[in-house]
Amino acid sequence: MQDTCEAVRLLGKRIGFVPTMGYLHEGHAALIRRARQECDCVVVSVFVNPAQFAPTEDFSRYPRSLDHDMHVADEAGCDYFFTPESPEMYPEHFSTYVQVENLSSVLEGTFRPTHFKGVTTVVAMLLLIVHPQKAYFGQKDAQQSIVIQQMVRDLHFATQIVVVPTVRETDGLAKSSRNIYLSQRERADAVVLFQALCKAEEMIASGERTSQKIVGAMTQMVTSKPNVAIDYISVVDALTLDLLETLKPGMQVLIPLAVRFGATRLIDNTRVTVPLHS
Ligand code: AMP
Repeated sequence: MQDTCEAVRLLGKRIGFVPTMGYLHEGHAALIRRARQECDCVVVSVFVNPAQFAPTEDFSRYPRSLDHDMHVADEAGCDYFFTPESPEMYPEHFSTYVQVENLSSVLEGTFRPTHFKGVTTVVAMLLLIVHPQKAYFGQKDAQQSIVIQQMVRDLHFATQIVVVPTVRETDGLAKSSRNIYLSQRERADAVVLFQALCKAEEMIASGERTSQKIVGAMTQMVTSKPNVAIDYISVVDALTLDLLETLKPGMQVLIPLAVRFGATRLIDNTRVTVPLHS
């Protein structure tokens, strides 16, 4: 893949890169289509990265479907499909990791302490292999995009990170490869995440500025469903991820959440600009 990308660059073409873990859906397709619009050559990778899963997590049962993925990527405008194998990415004696401090240890990092170290390491490797002008990430994984933007700035990668809005099912549930783990009942209940995020947006639009009240209302909605466990629902600064107690006019606010429905853990978020005048 390195040689192919080098040859493409020598032709003066701009490479757009979409890294994924596969089991592609409309969310991934939106990233690929955006890359197609903005670049001359689109590279999509599918790699279920063992380093970003804790031993207790779903690495071995993570859904895989390469034929389907190739079809989705192709339809959305992919030119090169890159599916490295684990030994290629992590050969014997592999011992170099990339870690973004602070941003990696809050929110998701509290519950998945080694997760972002795995993400930033593999994304750094992939960016060095592909050397894209632009790489595309989803707002669905807001903290991931923020961590990667920090890594790219800190390490002077010559890649622009583009964040693409979350693609949702018709009832509002964010599309995710993990949604197939949900039972029929859990799938129906999971729409409450989107409803809770909409509630937070409405509260801010109508003048609520106390994070505790917003989180309280969202918690009440989510816990009205059976078998749910909230890992976090937070109101944070959209750039620094610092917890916010009170919202100020003009602030960029991120409201991320992680909730388990039975054994399935879902994440979602909304980004809101606090109105200047309430
Ligand atoms: P994954 O395969 O889950 O690692 O996701 C690969 C990329 O697709 C990441 O940048 C995700 O944020 C993005 N993505 C996943 N789901 C969605 C979605 N529903 N809408 C937009 N982007 C998404």
